[in-house]
Amino acid sequence: MRVLLVEDDAMIGEAVLDVLRAEHYAVDWVRDGAMADTALRSQTYDLVLLDLGLPKRDGLEVLRSLRARHVTVPVLVATARDAVGDRVAGLDAGADDYVVKPYDTDELLARVRALLRRSAGRGEPVFSHKGVALNPATREATVDGRPVALSAREWAVLEPMLARPGVVFSRAQLEEKLYGWKEDINSNAVEVYVHGLRKKLGSDLIQTVRGLGYVVPRQ
Ligand code: CA
Repeated sequence: MRVLLVEDDAMIGEAVLDVLRAEHYAVDWVRDGAMADTALRSQTYDLVLLDLGLPKRDGLEVLRSLRARHVTVPVLVATARDAVGDRVAGLDAGADDYVVKPYDTDELLARVRALLRRSAGRGEPVFSHKGVALNPATREATVDGRPVALSAREWAVLEPMLARPGVVFSRAQLEEKLYGWKEDINSNAVEVYVHGLRKKLGSDLIQTVRGLGYVVPRQ
């Protein structure tokens, strides 16, 4: 899953970046509202973690302009503990949830998982389809109840497809889930991970749609 982190404080930003990357999210970090705007116009994200007090363009303005463009990406706004007014303004401007700073890491990650779950149209915390189950909270994968070890990048490729059976993902869309900015993309990386996943999970789980990409079929 690809996350845009918008945070102008270098120490907080680095800490959150580490926490999210340790959970295998692909994270892009920008430090002001203008760059957030640019990133949101040029990339597709699965979630935005948005600080409200930002240089150049206020977080609320970034959020309002995002929603005015009908972009439905889940947005988690970050506010100070006593700033009830900011939380209300953020939610009313189109945020889906909020976290208070300083962050409690476990709470932040749980809210991220909850938003990703809801945006995939699911209520249950474990992704499961045709006997394959992924638990984002514990990072455990199972096939018919048996644990299977997936690498972080195999997980990153499988998770979006398993969350939306029947939806075809292009190679470029899956690459976006794998990497943050400034990381090298090997041109056949997605194929390599799909190959690994088929070996571990069975050859029919992920199907190739010629010329389009990959899909976990509904049936
Ligand atoms: Ca700030």
